Amino acid sequence: MTLILNRISVLHSQLNQVADFHGHRCPGIAYGLRVALTAIQEIDIKPGDDVIVQTETSLCPVDAIQVITGCTFGNGKLVFNPTGKQTFSFWNLTSGRAIRITCNKIGTIQADIDPSKPAMSLLESKIDVVLQSEIKDFLEISIIPANPPENQRF
Ligand SMILES: [Zn+2]
Repeated sequence: MTLILNRISVLHSQLNQVADFHGHRCPGIAYGLRVALTAIQEIDIKPGDDVIVQTETSLCPVDAIQVITGCTFGNGKLVFNPTGKQTFSFWNLTSGRAIRITCNKIGTIQADIDPSKPAMSLLESKIDVVLQSEIKDFLEISIIPANPPENQRF
């Protein structure tokens, strides 16, 4: 239990770091944080690795991905491929591993929240649900080819 609480408190401090960049706390950056941390773990991203990210949305989650991975539009390591999906692909050119992650059960998670709560605590409840949920309950993960598409600007 202590281990779980420690993990949640680390996630909250990382979320605060993202919120400083994003401008507010919201479930969207919590999703982005979980996506970025999942990618880091799954394709073994270490400091200094050459990483490329493709985002298919320009909404809140992508700010968390920029802060946590260091891949930004400005440094050319983040590519926008607008499809409207909450989908992010990560290529670790150093380890030769790549992954595609889609947030696909947002509605299900939000349905678990008690709508009678005040707005601020409702927002924080949604954030807590995202931070505490099992990855398998809201992220769809697939392994993709190690080479990013040729037509991307890197
Ligand atoms: Zn937001």
